[in-house]
Amino acid sequence: MSKTLEIKDLHVNVEDKEILKGINLTIKTGEVHAIMGPNGTGKSTLASTIMGHFKYQVTKGTMELDGENLLDMTVDERSRKGIFLAMQYPNEISGVTNSDFIKTAMQARLGSDEHISLFKFIKEMDKAVSDLKMRSDLPHRYLNEGFSGGEKKRNEILQMKMLKPNFAILDEIDSGLDVDALRIVGENINNMRGEDFGALVITHYERLLDYIDVDYVHIMMNGQIVRTGGKELIAKIDALGYDWLKEELGLEDEEFDNRQHVVLGSCARNPKTENK
Ligand code: ADP
Ligand code: MG
Repeated sequence: MSKTLEIKDLHVNVEDKEILKGINLTIKTGEVHAIMGPNGTGKSTLASTIMGHFKYQVTKGTMELDGENLLDMTVDERSRKGIFLAMQYPNEISGVTNSDFIKTAMQARLGSDEHISLFKFIKEMDKAVSDLKMRSDLPHRYLNEGFSGGEKKRNEILQMKMLKPNFAILDEIDSGLDVDALRIVGENINNMRGEDFGALVITHYERLLDYIDVDYVHIMMNGQIVRTGGKELIAKIDALGYDWLKEELGLEDEEFDNRQHVVLGSCARNPKTENK
């Protein structure tokens, strides 16, 4: 049965500044949505808020998965419900091997009396590593430690392939990838398409979308989705950029905050509630 992630009138503050100003977005399994938009318009903020990062304060609106309130759930609960975030800036975790990390996450999705078959796990991991044309020693290396930018991005897709989420949010998975890697990553995302899988692909380049069959394209500006369409929007942005839309909407350039990107740490840790 199809699942629905429904976001209504979502307003989000970061450090008391409103970044998301009323996002409406419904994604069903079976669908792939792309969000495009200039830098600093709140795309990563939306991704982190869906996953439940503590820094992102929802001030208004709702977010539900099949009618269940996601806003009440921890990051871990959201993940168990089938939501997955491939981060724009993946973390390095020393001392934890890639395969242990993925196996633990997979095990956490099972009941306490169920166990992952090691044989099946290794076979599946080997296949995923080879599908992504990653180095074969990768499962034994510490999570993202010493990985190149492109390897980190492929590794996010490896985790997605192994965890098989219902909803994957892929935040600029294309940044740092060369042309060949872009194709491999794009094809692997596209191969996930199916009735149990929905995706939100965030990008500000159109190239990744050459390889992914997208159903809906949303353009985000200034904390809002200002236009929704099909693939034709991708070609238009590729050819003309975003200026035509700014003009149509009467937006001034100054409304865009060009402050340097804030590199976020892991979603899973909240220093305010830790060690208490
Ligand atoms: P995008 O992903 O579209 O480039 P972001 O969501 O990263 O945009 O950023 C939107 C705005 O929110 C920017 O002005 C950015 O500086 C601010 N912002 C995002 N996350 C944080 C944070 N953790 N701390 C402070 N400001 C943030
Ligand atoms: Mg971003």
